[in-house]
Amino acid sequence: MENLGKFFINGQWVEPISTEKMPVLNPANQNEIGQVSLGNKKDLDRAVDAAKKAFESFSKTSKSERLEYLRRLKSITEARFEDLAQAMREEMGAPISMARSAQADSAIGHLDGFIDSLEKLEEREKLENGDILIKEPIGVCGLITPWNWPINQVALKVIPALATGCTCVLKPSEHTPLSAMIYAEMIEEAGYPSGVFNLVNGVGDVVGTALSKHKDIQMMSFTGSTRAGILVTKDSADTIKRVTLELGGKSPNLIFADCDLEKDVKASVEECMFNSGQSCDAPTRLLVERSCYEEVLKIAKDSAEAISVDDPKKEGDHLGPLFDKIQFDRVQNMIDVGIKEGAPVLTGGLGKPEGFEQGWYVKPTIFHDVKNNMRIAQEEIFGPVLVIIPFENEAEAITIANDTPYGLAAYLQTSDKEKAERVSALLRAGAIHINGGGFNYGTPFGGYKQSGNGREGGKMGLEDYLETKSLHGL
Ligand code: NAD
Repeated sequence: MENLGKFFINGQWVEPISTEKMPVLNPANQNEIGQVSLGNKKDLDRAVDAAKKAFESFSKTSKSERLEYLRRLKSITEARFEDLAQAMREEMGAPISMARSAQADSAIGHLDGFIDSLEKLEEREKLENGDILIKEPIGVCGLITPWNWPINQVALKVIPALATGCTCVLKPSEHTPLSAMIYAEMIEEAGYPSGVFNLVNGVGDVVGTALSKHKDIQMMSFTGSTRAGILVTKDSADTIKRVTLELGGKSPNLIFADCDLEKDVKASVEECMFNSGQSCDAPTRLLVERSCYEEVLKIAKDSAEAISVDDPKKEGDHLGPLFDKIQFDRVQNMIDVGIKEGAPVLTGGLGKPEGFEQGWYVKPTIFHDVKNNMRIAQEEIFGPVLVIIPFENEAEAITIANDTPYGLAAYLQTSDKEKAERVSALLRAGAIHINGGGFNYGTPFGGYKQSGNGREGGKMGLEDYLETKSLHGL
């Protein structure tokens, strides 16, 4: 990729001030794809200066002008769709069919959701008491994204920033720069004014920290681990920034005996393993009603063993590798932790699947008879690893489900609608997926508890980037 070593600052692809570089590796074969530049504080300052200057005029653009830019971005995204999918296949090992249908698809889906919400957004409102409320862009935004859904996260931050008249500096994950660089090229092609969007690559504790601490940034939007989210919050505190966070999860999936066991358990296992388990909202704790426990174990085992692992270049619904050696080692370590904690392995386990010694492939793994206080039930593993925990009744299922520091998503399977309503009301999570109900673009996404603050997507995703001004006496 031509621009991989450069940054996009003030409407130009520029040579970094920093001379540091890092290899980007294809996780399927460990071959080097290229070298990404790792920026320093001076590179970041340059980008923030450009965004600050651009804010003076871009913040005054009309809603219809901004909608026009977004519609242009949409047709460019459609034209670059395959480039985005291939980039994510190469940089993070997303199997090509899912890189298209889920990963790249999110670039278009979120644009649709935000365009629709911006069309409906009231920027001026008269209150019954006569005062007037005006919504204005918050300012220069610092956007930090992870590697696991690279373009989904970039789209969920860049689009609302630009839609509301903010300007921004994006620091994508240093591990997945390719797709983010294509995104920058798309923004350039859409004709946004210089400095409105800037991209600086680099590591978290250099460029990320400098963004969070920068006095000219008014808002930080961060997606990643809870560990880094805490640091972003602390680093933002001295300058009283608005901070929105999308963090980790350990989402429960409640299997009641009255669901369609064969269909729902199979779908639940597949959902946990999707994207090789590298999804923040994956249903990783399967809580199973005791009366159907043995039957569920059998279906879960068969379902996991029917999932194949293969080269991301091949079409199909197989799993690809984990994104990097770092993640491979983390997942192996957690499987080892589970074994040492005494949880029986139902299928999978340590080591690479046969025939996949090159690349960061792991075996889809299930533990059963797990106690919710075990580390494998409390900590995010971020690999294709499911833990199965039995429960006796509805009340116990809810207690176990909520017994986690996280609260991103919860899933439940039951044919009883009233039970679904009742249980949903008691689950402390930002999204409840009932009988396989999937996420729709335009719906807010975010977590309770240590899964984050704020919501991304649609109307609420726009509001995070807006300030409210009240006019009295007009
Ligand atoms: P990570 O926290 O290591 O890195 C995420 C980003 O933060 C990267 O760009 C990284 O460079 C940067 N970063 C790291 N330390 C930083 C610091 N001190 N200051 C500022 N920035 C810093 O996470 P990851 O391993 O890339 O991603 C996986 C994590 O992301 C998982 O915990 C997953 O659950 C979470 N995630 C959450 C959501 C959500 O919407 N809730 C979505 C996707 C991923």
